[in-house]
Amino acid sequence: MKRLLSTIFLISSLISYAEGFELVTLGSDGGVFDGNISGYLLKSKSEENFVALDAGTVLPGIKKGLEKNSFKNITIPKDTEWNDIGYIFREKIKGYLISHAHLDHISGLVVSSTEDTKKEIYGLKSTIDTLKNNVFNWQLWPNFANEGEGFKLNQYTYKELSPLNEVSINGTTLKVRSFPLSHSNYESTMFLIENNGEYLAYYGDVGPDKVEKSNGLDESFKVLGPLLKEKKLKAIMIESSFENSKQDKDLFGHLTPKWIDTELENLERYSGKGNLKGLNIVITHIKPSLKKNENMREKIEKELVDNNRFGVQYHFPVQGDLLEF
Ligand SMILES: [Zn+2]
Ligand SMILES: [Zn+2]
Repeated sequence: MKRLLSTIFLISSLISYAEGFELVTLGSDGGVFDGNISGYLLKSKSEENFVALDAGTVLPGIKKGLEKNSFKNITIPKDTEWNDIGYIFREKIKGYLISHAHLDHISGLVVSSTEDTKKEIYGLKSTIDTLKNNVFNWQLWPNFANEGEGFKLNQYTYKELSPLNEVSINGTTLKVRSFPLSHSNYESTMFLIENNGEYLAYYGDVGPDKVEKSNGLDESFKVLGPLLKEKKLKAIMIESSFENSKQDKDLFGHLTPKWIDTELENLERYSGKGNLKGLNIVITHIKPSLKKNENMREKIEKELVDNNRFGVQYHFPVQGDLLEF
């Protein structure tokens, strides 16, 4: 009996361990079409509530996700007064993790705020300060938050994150730790999200450590290395704004395929040789070109896939796509 019980316990602990994540892309690009910029929804497979990872585009991404059946695991009640876009937006997004307050990461949140519900906005002090002083200030936009200028509509509650501190994301089973990054003399953030012993790392805009004269990426890799070794890191989301021909002086705090390769080499130092093999890497923030016959997405995909010496598994989701890890 004792043995049977311990077997059942072992099996159930294995089942609860292998929960995994679901990721819906709301906006896949790093500019210039305002209907498809930096925004993702993340949740544990074992529940229905999402946190948004940046919010450059929100509603058009939910619309596209519904068209692609990417919310198939979400129950939308028959008797709700909201349409499907409205229900997922209002009821299933429980909070926003904002990596930095550049417009392409917050514009969806701002524009859709008039139809949103009470939620938390999580970010480092620099991000919260920018939102507080320059966005929700009754000048650029009404103050939908709980702090800052003038009358406070109290729909959003700022949750200032201190680096490395673990914080639970209200309404979800997720927890987050934040790591400061350098984005052309501006502070950006890597969010390390944990669900029941499994992790996903979301990098906001970031330049190479060497170009930025920073150790932001290096510090984050020190934490990811051991997780990779223990097979607990399900995916990394990181940007490749430009193609390889972009010169370092023109990067303005962004990465290219060859710089991703260099940074992965550093990550391998902390994870041990061979441990990057098969790692899911989601490429974000590709900047589209408006030139004739120039497809940046195709170019960057090719540059990454053709030079994949660590054998990672690259993903290039577009708006509305569902990825499961
Ligand atoms: Zn950006
Ligand atoms: Zn930026």
